[in-house]
Amino acid sequence: MTRSAIASDPQPVVLNGVRKRFGKDVAVDGVTVTARAGELTTLVGPSGCGKTTTLRMIGGFIDPEEGEIRIGDRVVNGVPPSRRSTRTVFQNYALFPHMSVFENVAFGLRATRAPRSEIPGRVEEALRIVGLSGLERRSSGQLSGGQQQRVAFARALVTRPEVLLLDEPLSNLDAKLRIQMRTEIRRIQQEVGITTIYVTHDQEEAMSLSDHMVVMNQGRVEQQGLPHEVYETPASRFVASFIGVTNFVPATVASADEAAEIEALGTTLRVPRPPDLPDDVRSATLVIRPEHLHVGPAKEGADPPARDADVASFQGEVVLSSYLGAAASYRVRVADGEELFVHDPAPHGAALHRVGDVVTLRLDVNRTYLLSD
Ligand code: ATP
Repeated sequence: MTRSAIASDPQPVVLNGVRKRFGKDVAVDGVTVTARAGELTTLVGPSGCGKTTTLRMIGGFIDPEEGEIRIGDRVVNGVPPSRRSTRTVFQNYALFPHMSVFENVAFGLRATRAPRSEIPGRVEEALRIVGLSGLERRSSGQLSGGQQQRVAFARALVTRPEVLLLDEPLSNLDAKLRIQMRTEIRRIQQEVGITTIYVTHDQEEAMSLSDHMVVMNQGRVEQQGLPHEVYETPASRFVASFIGVTNFVPATVASADEAAEIEALGTTLRVPRPPDLPDDVRSATLVIRPEHLHVGPAKEGADPPARDADVASFQGEVVLSSYLGAAASYRVRVADGEELFVHDPAPHGAALHRVGDVVTLRLDVNRTYLLSD
């Protein structure tokens, strides 16, 4: 992809052991993260986990008590926001409603004392990138939420920062527009090639946008990696439950070599052994994602159900059935009273399973993930 003229040299952002307390409360507790140059890194976690405080420390609005923050080769601890090569887009956009779109974008540039002759060209370029060419004269108070969001982006990008910081930028938009705008954010970020750090509490937003995803809980990093690594090999029960929908099934480990043999769901299963599973573990939790259970009608005379190495099947009773158009979701009670969420990606309305139906579940054993308790 051709890099825009607006791009500056992308720089990595490195946080090493960063800590911040407010009074006695530790808001950020030893965070070590690298946001690689030109990539989009998300900080995702529940309310109060410390993601905004982390972002504000990168932007220079709060100073860490311990640890180091580097942008490129430069340690920026103690450097005020105006002297960092970062720009933040806030939740509320902070536009001047009485000013035109052009003036809102030019404002950021004038503040950096850019040469006057360069201003019109740079503003036009920023507005082109965010898809607002032609709206320069419109007052920003007359824009839709999505358009205001784009102006806020243009205003941040026009100064050619090395790092773009986004704090829940889509939270004021309705559900459909959020999805449209997140695709737009990704397009803009990739066109400009700017190192971007994005705070959200929405795990789906984080997964769909991230090159690198950092899951935070109670001021700490619980796990970081590619979105599929975090989803498929969660490091903890917290991560498995926060990212996506999950079934947690209690399991007893009988033996563990390259694979683990476990007792779970009233049967014996041979499941993949995660590299960090201790040798002496006995009690564990089997993580089963709803899309790795396939539901079908109960078969006559299939008691006990057939099993091969990769698939285990169980009978169960549907206790909840919801049709969502593109998918159906079920809750199915199986042996020993466990209830499992099941996701059927291609439901056929007429063949939908109803509450009370007995069904067969087929589990992709190799897609399960074992966590030690
Ligand atoms: P949210 O999604 O709700 O914004 P967050 O993950 O961004 O949450 P932070 O805003 O970073 O979390 O807050 C982390 C913790 O620090 C919370 O317990 C919060 O109450 C506390 N905190 C944040 N800012 C301040 C402040 N200025 N003074 C005192 N406590 C604060």
